[in-house]
Amino acid sequence: MRKVFNFSAGPAVLPEEVLQQASEEMLDWHGSGQCVMEMSHRGPEYMGIHAQAEADLRELMAIPSNYEVVFAQGGATLQFSMVPLNLMRAKAGADYVNTGEWSKKAIKEAENYGKVNVAASSEDRKFSYVPQRSSWKLDPDAAYVHICANETIGGVEFNWTPDTGAVPLVADLSSTFLSRPIDVARFGLLYGGAQKNIGPAGLTIVIVRDDLIGHAPKGTPGLLDYKTQVDNDSMLNTPPTYAVYIAGLVFQWLKRQGGVAAIEKRNIEKSSLLYDALDASGFYRNPVAAADRSRMNVPFTLTDAALDDAFLAGAAEHKLLQLKGHRSVGGMRASIYNAMPIEGVRALVQYMREFERTRG
Ligand SMILES: *Cc1c(COP(=O)(O)O)cnc(C)c1O
Repeated sequence: MRKVFNFSAGPAVLPEEVLQQASEEMLDWHGSGQCVMEMSHRGPEYMGIHAQAEADLRELMAIPSNYEVVFAQGGATLQFSMVPLNLMRAKAGADYVNTGEWSKKAIKEAENYGKVNVAASSEDRKFSYVPQRSSWKLDPDAAYVHICANETIGGVEFNWTPDTGAVPLVADLSSTFLSRPIDVARFGLLYGGAQKNIGPAGLTIVIVRDDLIGHAPKGTPGLLDYKTQVDNDSMLNTPPTYAVYIAGLVFQWLKRQGGVAAIEKRNIEKSSLLYDALDASGFYRNPVAAADRSRMNVPFTLTDAALDDAFLAGAAEHKLLQLKGHRSVGGMRASIYNAMPIEGVRALVQYMREFERTRG
């Protein structure tokens, strides 16, 4: 067992079993005499790793056969541009729902490619909720509707999939990927960086419906065109091979845990434990509407912000690391992704109670 619990928002905790296996395979992968990092991406060993990772992801998410999986680079941030570049087409514009910092960044990039209609926003109450579907002002001619499924900084998560009729729904899944079952068929495109819930930084996963591919404007660089990526099995250039390998090990780990439905149960248990502790105390506070609270990222503040540094220092002494909130909001944030064991959340809650008792 490792000796710390890491609550980082990303890059984030990985399953100990996966790190153990990777270390055992580091010098000699399956008798090949090579490290995965040293293998040609065109060789049979790596091609097998790549194909298995995709197959396991498809199985875990029950991805329908009319959807393509792309292993890309550039992070979710590059998808903020690639989505409008590839999907805007001749349409008048796209609809965006603004639920926080990551939505805002996606909107800003999309504005380079066409008209952005902010169909709904929760900025009026400091991004502390998800606007109800009935309040959204969607444009029926929009190229797509974009949501951030989980706002990693604000700790606001969609617990439902919006109905957008015939207009494709696009979601940034970066910090909620594989944490709960979703019906892929209800989306046109899903994307996310791997470093929150899947694996190392450097890998970005895109799941895109067939009919949305092949519409990038002339002059689009091949790497930024979903069609060239798909036509080349994500090997138009050298893919992030080691990151794909680790992601593949995480997918296998997740299957051993019982898959996404089983991990969701644990995520509900872990997040409830923490929210219940926050709500039972007058000393800590989480500002998010109960129905829209994230199961993955739990921001909270102390009533007296002057105690923040003492809280963090004490936490580190208890081997509870990276609890400092995002620089834009302050306070604390506990990210409790799939790989965070429940013991970590129990240890955090226990420390919080102790801190409140002694300093509150
Ligand atoms: C971290 C994050 C991003 C940015 O991801 P990069 O891989 O750093 O580009 C975008 N959206 C969400 C929701 C995130 O959590």
